[in-house]
Amino acid sequence: MIQVCYHCQRPTPEPVVVEEGHGASAGGHTVYACPEDAPRFPARPGPLAEIDALRRARVSR
Ligand SMILES: [Zn+2]
Repeated sequence: MIQVCYHCQRPTPEPVVVEEGHGASAGGHTVYACPEDAPRFPARPGPLAEIDALRRARVSR
């Protein structure tokens, strides 16, 4: 799935979720970054940790 990186505005075949809206205020939008720019977003510990957390959240529900 190709998404546009929020930082460099280029399409990336390996998008990393750096911000995920949960429907309350953001309208459920998701912000993606390419793997190189994902560490620029300080709110997240890292792209791998984020992906792992999302996987666990899905499984537990
Ligand atoms: Zn980028």
